[in-house]
Amino acid sequence: MAVTSRRPIVPITELEHSAFCKTEDQLPSKSLAEEMVVNVRWQRIPPEYLHFSPEELDRRIGESREKLGSSVTILGHHYQREEVIKYADFQGDSFLLSREAANRPEADHIIFCGVHFMAETACILAAPHQKVVLPNITAGCSMADMAPMEDVDDAWADLTEVLGPGGILPVTYMNSIAGIKALCGRNGGAVCTSSNAKAVVEWAFTQSERVLFLPDQHLGRNTALELGVPLDEMVVWNPFRQMGGNTPEQLRKAKMVLWQGHCSVHTRFTTGQIDSARALHPDINIIVHPECPMETVQAADMVGSTEFIREKINSAPAGSKWGVGTEVSLVNRLAINNPDKTIFCLDPVTCPCSTMYRIHPAYLLWMLDGLVAGTVINQITVPDDIMRDSRIALERMLSLK
Ligand code: SF4
Repeated sequence: MAVTSRRPIVPITELEHSAFCKTEDQLPSKSLAEEMVVNVRWQRIPPEYLHFSPEELDRRIGESREKLGSSVTILGHHYQREEVIKYADFQGDSFLLSREAANRPEADHIIFCGVHFMAETACILAAPHQKVVLPNITAGCSMADMAPMEDVDDAWADLTEVLGPGGILPVTYMNSIAGIKALCGRNGGAVCTSSNAKAVVEWAFTQSERVLFLPDQHLGRNTALELGVPLDEMVVWNPFRQMGGNTPEQLRKAKMVLWQGHCSVHTRFTTGQIDSARALHPDINIIVHPECPMETVQAADMVGSTEFIREKINSAPAGSKWGVGTEVSLVNRLAINNPDKTIFCLDPVTCPCSTMYRIHPAYLLWMLDGLVAGTVINQITVPDDIMRDSRIALERMLSLK
């Protein structure tokens, strides 16, 4: 059994999560110096970038972007703030964006406006000549940070010791570090997204009688329930406790072992918020992301990935009403783009993903100026062996479509 003497550590990204939460519903960008008063870690940046106004940043980004032409592609995740996403050549969820990087071989440089694991995935899928950069290196993901490699390696050693080789198959959500994707690739497992989690977990049960699902317990639980796995055949793996807090007997009886991780954004959505929305608008449609807790998902009318939510609302009839349980930057954008519908975030507090929000336009300008000057800042790299094994797990997922 792997023994760990480390003390429990809550990821800093989780502790910092509520830093940008506000009670008013808009979050207009300010100069970076003004935003830096918020108590989170920001990457150091040359001082001249701190005081540019939003208008000056806009002008300078446009100029630098033009000088670089098609040698650079800017990818923007749906959860990015408006003042950043407007520069994206392509918008999407994490997997769509990573594939898009590979679809643009003429771009030697990919500026990934998202979080660290997404830039890593883009790096894994990109062509060898393409360099991927993340504008602010402190833009991590609190969920991914809840599954550090050392803890996952310990857990995997314990699980294979108790359950034997082949007794459990690892499946990881895209929102995880590359090392975990590689562990899945090496051990017969696969990656999944929130769109295809059901198909991947269903396939996993044809390969093994048990699945270790990382790092989001909520997506894992919601998916397993959809597949008919009862709650009493699921256990949670707490990395801070011996054997994840389980007895060998409990592990042998389980079909699904859920890593104790969660998204700081989606766990804010509650059944109470849904009740309030229904009381105000009896004809409302409640649509939530599967990273939300089980009770919230079960109280909603619809559940699905970011792309599913966008598609449902964009194609809905005029006059329809939507209470949405996902990241507020995306919800606000949906509301702006669909003025004939009532669309609002279920959470009454405006609480963006605090790590996505660290991609301030000043960082984007810093990356572009660096490339104009021939310097690649914040390049994300993945070691060759991790790259090879991660690709196996990603390709297994793709082969299931
Ligand atoms: S929304 Fe949640 S899962 Fe997505 S990057 Fe933010 S913390 Fe991570």
